[in-house]
Amino acid sequence: MTSRNRISLIQGGVLLLSIVVPLTAVTGRADIVRLQSDLLTLEVDEGTAAWKLLDKQSGALWPSEGMARPGNVPWLQGHFSRAGNERGDSVRLAGEKGGAVVFTLIEAGRALELRYEKPSDGTMRVLGDALSVGDAEGGYVIVPSREGLLVPVQGDKAFKRTFGTSEYEGCHMNMLGLVKKDSALIVTWDDAYVFPELERTVSAGSPNRLATTFELRGSAKFLRLMPLGKGDWNGIARAYRQYAAKRGYAVTLREKIRRDPHVELMVGAPDAKLWSCLTRRMNEESTAEESARVHWTFDEAARVAEHLRNDLQIERCFFMVGGWTEGGYDVRHPDNLPANPECGGNAALADAVKRIQKLGYVGCLHDNVQDMYRDAKSWSPSFIEKNRDGSLIKGGRWNGGRAYMVCASKQLELAQRPQNLGAIRDLFGPWSYFIDTTYAVGPRECFDPNHPIGRNEDIAWKIRLSDYARNVFGIFGSECGREWALPHSDFFEGLVGVSGHYYANAKLQEEVGAQVIPFFEMVYHDCQICYGKYGYRAEDAAENVAHHVLCARPLYYHSFPDHLYWQNKPSERRGGTPGTSDRSSYTRSDNGWAQGMHPVDVFVKNTHEILGPLHELTAYNRLIAFEYLTDDRNVRRATYGEGSQVVKVTVNFGQTPAEVKTETGGRAVLPPWGFIVEAPRFVAFHARSWNGHDYGNGALFTLRPTDNKDLKDSASVRVFHGFGPTTLSWQGRTYEVKREEVIKPGIS
Ligand SMILES: [Zn+2]
Repeated sequence: MTSRNRISLIQGGVLLLSIVVPLTAVTGRADIVRLQSDLLTLEVDEGTAAWKLLDKQSGALWPSEGMARPGNVPWLQGHFSRAGNERGDSVRLAGEKGGAVVFTLIEAGRALELRYEKPSDGTMRVLGDALSVGDAEGGYVIVPSREGLLVPVQGDKAFKRTFGTSEYEGCHMNMLGLVKKDSALIVTWDDAYVFPELERTVSAGSPNRLATTFELRGSAKFLRLMPLGKGDWNGIARAYRQYAAKRGYAVTLREKIRRDPHVELMVGAPDAKLWSCLTRRMNEESTAEESARVHWTFDEAARVAEHLRNDLQIERCFFMVGGWTEGGYDVRHPDNLPANPECGGNAALADAVKRIQKLGYVGCLHDNVQDMYRDAKSWSPSFIEKNRDGSLIKGGRWNGGRAYMVCASKQLELAQRPQNLGAIRDLFGPWSYFIDTTYAVGPRECFDPNHPIGRNEDIAWKIRLSDYARNVFGIFGSECGREWALPHSDFFEGLVGVSGHYYANAKLQEEVGAQVIPFFEMVYHDCQICYGKYGYRAEDAAENVAHHVLCARPLYYHSFPDHLYWQNKPSERRGGTPGTSDRSSYTRSDNGWAQGMHPVDVFVKNTHEILGPLHELTAYNRLIAFEYLTDDRNVRRATYGEGSQVVKVTVNFGQTPAEVKTETGGRAVLPPWGFIVEAPRFVAFHARSWNGHDYGNGALFTLRPTDNKDLKDSASVRVFHGFGPTTLSWQGRTYEVKREEVIKPGIS
């Protein structure tokens, strides 16, 4: 047995005391090797590669008891011995069956890297024991899927679920956060062949466990564990943001505005989308048309935008037009031109985009280069992903018939053809472009010998596609959203929610006994414009609105009725009269601004008056503190920014009214999905009681200064009243505001 020296070195300002000391026979049968920094102590059994990690700041051990096994595959089961790598911060243990495990302290002693030198590219499962959390430890795991899931150990739902890297509703950042006994840890990785799996075991008579196992397939070979000391979701988000910034993910909106000034017009802008100007439905084989219908001509599309601007006084809007292509929505891609004649053709679309953008709205056209249809002019199997046996990989059955999946390398090639993005820009000039599914579909594999790719190459090609589209149009975004796309795009449509729910799988949080947590906003609120996707019923949308208030995100309006809808009386409503249940509260207009208007307009105006200003005031900051104000976790507060920029958002997600203390309105009572926003220059609430007034079933008001002063000093305050009783108290005086007034506090 050789003795080794104690080594001290300074890295990145943190003193890293790296000690490699063989402690003979600590376990009675093998040597323990210790790697140490100011923050961590790792002990590894030289003979078995079993290990444990001490978080010196909190005293937490990972695993909580005993030692973790190196992994469960046969090559990790035999005897190990030290081999190679004599650095003071690293231990390499070679297995007798081939392969090796390398333990290295990285990030100036803040993190442990576990590297598995696999003897082959097989699948292995690791960390299931090291990261298992018990009921008594009161722990949870944060999963970065869309906004985020908080999965507690406690709960009566047993489940096992894989949240694969970059998969649809998998891990949308390359990390997981774990907490036990108030001690936090982050796991990070780079490879798209990492598949994290959570399993909660529930059995009568024995305490729950929540295990986090990592399946490393193919090229996936390492994981990093970064203990954080005492902390919760806020500490995890803060630490992860620092890490993400170093890795180049955290490109901020301010940087994106410098990249293209039109991005600034998306701050405070809702997502208004005319999904499908022309809907043509083809049969499965794409050989025969089953139906075709024009929902909006291009002239009508521009008139919808003009209506939002002029009649609803919505000053900013991200306005997307789909179904403009030759075949109609999701038909005959990637051959888009000319704009379909049914809606007016090229000239009418060019005129529409011009009129939309003249309003100050960001015009956007929908495209798709991942799905190809057999009736496309440029159809060729050579573009399509192949299975191992050479057969074509099929996609979904959409309007255009059966889609075939274009290999990511070919997606870029198609987009770069003169008749694609370049021609579309030259003809129509939208400031923004949307390519569907690019950030939604999980990483792909293709076995075509002419263009084989794996999951990591797929992402790399999609990054190149994003950069290309952004360079052509200025603003670029895609569906859902992934962390890797943040530096290469400006907006995600679908990250915040789906069809009025939190996930496309509307029961996901129920299935895993979890709660949705605005973790994305805690890490990246200041980096991207984000929306939900797909239509939903405004009459059921109060929880969706409340979610957007908490996330400080403008809403997505994807359910506009056909043509010049506001000129027609709405057809008979399903589900009763508007605004009579808690779920329909944001469709109310009694005594309010939009009274007598079309129900769609009522909902758009009410919600935009809350969410537009809220996003404007928070867009350049993170959600820095997220709190549960009640034991049942139903009343939640999100604090964005600090100092003069601080914005506090308090939302009641419970099914019964909740009393909260507010700075501006004393004790307020929030109805189910009611809220209060408080900032130096913005106050908004949907409350049953505020500032001494009882609002019965609830009232919606917002207040903004018009004189560039904080509200407390302002002598000119615009008050918007959405619905409910019209009386408002402000700074000791009482006002009646039916629709909208500029009140003059302090002036008699
Ligand atoms: Zn390929």
